Amino acid sequence: MSGHIPEETIERIRQQIDIVDVIAAYLPLKKAGANFKTNCPFHHEKTPSFHVSASKQIFHCFGCHAGGNVFNFLMRHEQLTFPEAVELLADKLGIKIEQEKDGTRQGAGLWRKRYLAMYQIALGVYRQAVTDAKKGYSASAYLAGRGITQDTAAFFKLGFAEEAWEIVLNACRKEGFEDREIVDAGLAITGQKGKPFDRFRKRIMFPIYDSRDQVVAFGGRVLDETLPKYMNSPESEFYNKSRILYGLNFAKPHILREDKIVILEGYMDLISLFQAGIKNVAAPLGTALTVDHIRLFKRLTNNAVIVFDADKAGVEAMMRSSDLMVTEEVNVGVVRLPSGDDPDTFVRKNGPGEFEELIRQAQSVFDFRLGYFINKYGGGNVESRARIANEMMSFLAKIPNAVLKGAYMKRLSEKLELPEESIYRGMEDLTHTSGRGHRQGRFVETPLEVKIPKPKAELLMLGLILDDPEKIAVAMDAIEVDWITDTGISRIVRHIFGLHKQGLEVAASKIIIDLMDEKIAEIISESVSAASVMDERGRAFGDCLKKIKEVRLRKERELLQEKLKVGEKNGSSEGLVDIVREISKYDRLIKNL
Ligand SMILES: [Zn+2]
Repeated sequence: MSGHIPEETIERIRQQIDIVDVIAAYLPLKKAGANFKTNCPFHHEKTPSFHVSASKQIFHCFGCHAGGNVFNFLMRHEQLTFPEAVELLADKLGIKIEQEKDGTRQGAGLWRKRYLAMYQIALGVYRQAVTDAKKGYSASAYLAGRGITQDTAAFFKLGFAEEAWEIVLNACRKEGFEDREIVDAGLAITGQKGKPFDRFRKRIMFPIYDSRDQVVAFGGRVLDETLPKYMNSPESEFYNKSRILYGLNFAKPHILREDKIVILEGYMDLISLFQAGIKNVAAPLGTALTVDHIRLFKRLTNNAVIVFDADKAGVEAMMRSSDLMVTEEVNVGVVRLPSGDDPDTFVRKNGPGEFEELIRQAQSVFDFRLGYFINKYGGGNVESRARIANEMMSFLAKIPNAVLKGAYMKRLSEKLELPEESIYRGMEDLTHTSGRGHRQGRFVETPLEVKIPKPKAELLMLGLILDDPEKIAVAMDAIEVDWITDTGISRIVRHIFGLHKQGLEVAASKIIIDLMDEKIAEIISESVSAASVMDERGRAFGDCLKKIKEVRLRKERELLQEKLKVGEKNGSSEGLVDIVREISKYDRLIKNL
C-alpha cells in the first residue's frame, strides 16, 4: 500500500511529526507520568484508558485494544486511507510529496489523481451511453420504468455500461493510461489469457462518491434478472465500503438542516426518495452497517431512523444496525414498511407526505425489540415473559446512558407486568455471569469485540525489546522466531531480528509502517504499553525468554511422547529406547531452565 509514496517521505514525516500534537488537536490530552491519557474515541468509556506515548510515538487503549502510530490514529479517527493520512501530515509539516522518477504510478497523490481521472473517464463513457438517445435506449427505458426522471439521473450521474468488452479500456488507453493501471483501478479485469476486459457490462451504473465528493467506485445493477443483480467496484485504497455511505455527499446539508439521517437499504431506494424530496438519506453499499458508518454521520447528527423492508432479512438487519447505534449513543428509531413494500414502491404509491409521517412516527428501538421478542416467544405466560425480559436486558445493558437505561428498565417491568425489582436483579446478574454469550454488563465498559489473549510472555518480550533495543541480541541468542506461538507476534519479531541483523534502527512506530497491518499495529502498541508498566525489566525479560523456551521444549517433548505411544501400539520396540532417552533429555532441559 505504501508502495506509491516514496519511503523516504514517509520516514521523514514519521521522524518530524509528534503524535502528541496530532492527537491533542482532536482530543483533550492530560499528562500522566511520561505519557498522556484521555477518554478513548474508539469505544465508550468514562475513565480514560487511552494512552499516548511521546517517547514511543504510539497510542494504545487498554479498554478496546485500539493502537498504533500516528498514521493509524488518523486513518481510524478521520476515516482515511494510509496515503491520505500521509498526505494530511505532509501538508501539516509542509513536506512536498515528490513523485518517484520511474514507473507511472508515483506518489500517493499522483496515483490518487490518476485513479480519479480514470473514474472520470469511465463516468463519461457510462453517462454518454444514457444521454445518447440511440445508444441509451434500454437504459433510459429502464430508468423511466423505475420512475426515475432524466433530471434525477443527471443529478446522480447515473450511467449505463454497454454490452461491450473494451469501451472503458479504450477510452482510458486513449488518455494515456496503461492496461495495468486500469485493472488496478478496478475498472477492468484480466482474463484467462492475460487480456483485460471491462469489468462492467450491460448494467445501470451508479457512481459512488467519497467524502471529498470524488467518484471512487461504481455500483452496477442489471437490467433484467441476470445474476449477480448488483455488482460493485472492488475495494481499493480509495474505496472501502465499510467506510462509505452512499448518498451522504448529496445528503449532508439536508441532514444538517433536519438534524436527522434516514438510513436505507440500497441506492435505488435512496434515489427514489431523493427524487420525492426526502433528502436526508444515506445507504450502506451492500453491507451491514458498521461502526465506521455510524461515526461518519455522527459528525452531522445524532438522530437516525432506520428504514428497512418488512421481510425477515430486513428485520434482522434492523436489529443489528439499531443495536450498534445504541452502543454508539445515537438516538435511533426504526420504521418497518408494510409487507411487500420497499421505500421506492411505498413513496410512489403513497407520496412523500406519508413517508415523512412514517419517519416522524418511527418506533423506538426499545419498542421494536420488545415487539420482535413478543412475536418470537409469545407474551402470555410468566415463563415466556421472563425469556423476553432476558433478551431485553442484554440489550439494555448496552445502553451507555444510565438515566435512559433506568427509564427503560422501568418500562420493561410495566410492559411485561414483572416486578421492577426482578428486572433490576436480572441486570445485576447479567453483570456477574459472563455465560450465555451476552456481551456487556451494567456498569462495566467492555471492548466491542472479544479478543483472544496473546501469550503474555511473548507479548512482554516483544514490548521489552522494543523498549530497549540492546535486548534484541540477547533474545536472538536465547530463542528462535519459530518458537513464538502467536503468528502476529512472530511476524513482528522476525522483522525486528531482520532489522537488527542489517544494523538498522528498531523503532515501534517505524515497524508499524513496515508491516502495514492494523492488527500488527495493535499488537505492537499493546506490547509496548504492557512493558512500560513493568518493574524490574531485566529480570522480567529473562523470565519471558525462559517461558518461551519452556513452552517450546514441552511441545517437543509432547511430540516425542506421541511417537512413543504410537510405537508401543504397533508393538515395534525398535527405536523406542532412543525416544525414551530423548524424552528424559527434554525433562532435564526443562528442569534446568
Ligand atoms: Zn478504546
